[in-house]
Amino acid sequence: MLRVTDHGLYCEAGDFYIDPWRPVDRAVVTHAHGDHLTWGCAAYLVASDGASVARERLGNWATGLDHQPYGATRVINGVRLSFHPAGHILGSAQVRVEHRGEVWVVSGDYKTDPDPTCAPWEPVRCHTFITESTFGLPIYQWPSPSASAAQINAWWARNAADGVVSVLCGYALGKAQRLLAMLDPSIGPIFTHGAVERMTTLYREAGIALPPTRTVPLGDKADRTAFHGALVLAPPAVTGTSWLRRFGESRVAFASGWMRVRGARRRRGVDMGFVVSDHVDWPQLLDAIDATGASRVWVTHGFTGAVSRWLEARGFETRAIATRWDGEQEEAAVE
Ligand SMILES: [Zn+2]
Repeated sequence: MLRVTDHGLYCEAGDFYIDPWRPVDRAVVTHAHGDHLTWGCAAYLVASDGASVARERLGNWATGLDHQPYGATRVINGVRLSFHPAGHILGSAQVRVEHRGEVWVVSGDYKTDPDPTCAPWEPVRCHTFITESTFGLPIYQWPSPSASAAQINAWWARNAADGVVSVLCGYALGKAQRLLAMLDPSIGPIFTHGAVERMTTLYREAGIALPPTRTVPLGDKADRTAFHGALVLAPPAVTGTSWLRRFGESRVAFASGWMRVRGARRRRGVDMGFVVSDHVDWPQLLDAIDATGASRVWVTHGFTGAVSRWLEARGFETRAIATRWDGEQEEAAVE
């Protein structure tokens, strides 16, 4: 029902692409990160919860944007298409397609850990499951989100006591809002970089409860005393730039699944790393695959070879499929 073309995953019967890599006439999109949402398509279909962030990311290309609630079905040339929560970021969806009794599910990016900023992942029964594998190696196992939150708040409180500003970096869409929901606002004021604040506003408009934030003023005119004891949420791109100078003395941390690996923190030139990921870790990946009941699993976005070999050894019919990006290169494309 689906096949890989040089524009991405294509459903011939329905004549649409899922997360195409290049502009196409009709794109069905799992979520608004840059490695899944390509500019220049004539028409986009996304889950309703993700329409506002997709519109923000598409800018002038958003005129062809349509949306459909989780669980609702639309029939396109006889193909039944529906979205189901992926638990990755606001509005992230798995795409279920059914044609002549055969069911395929495309996961997009997903996680099964609890996250108050988006609808929780749901297993969807299918014959063929196309899964991401961003962290598909046994070394990737996440601490509980509450343990990570406690670490982040303890780091912030320590910095505040030292009179140093805490700068916490994470992707502007999704990760920053999840981190914000983990913060204890009794420690001090929370500031946001403008790119983070734009997305945070859309989350609030979608009804997601988040602690109050203030945007870091443009230019260098800000009064430094306003940042006393503060935590600043910013995209990873600010690391090592002059943007940080306005805070006086600061410590910079990065929150990502990549922080699980020794050396990752040093390579990024940050003072601290927190393991917070919006993807499944290795055991969660295997559990999620089991929960779909699929006998055929295609693996994409990440450690495709390792995961597909593991599945093959356990009797799954499997295949690794290429994407435009791989590993940490893909991570850069997210922004
Ligand atoms: Zn993503």
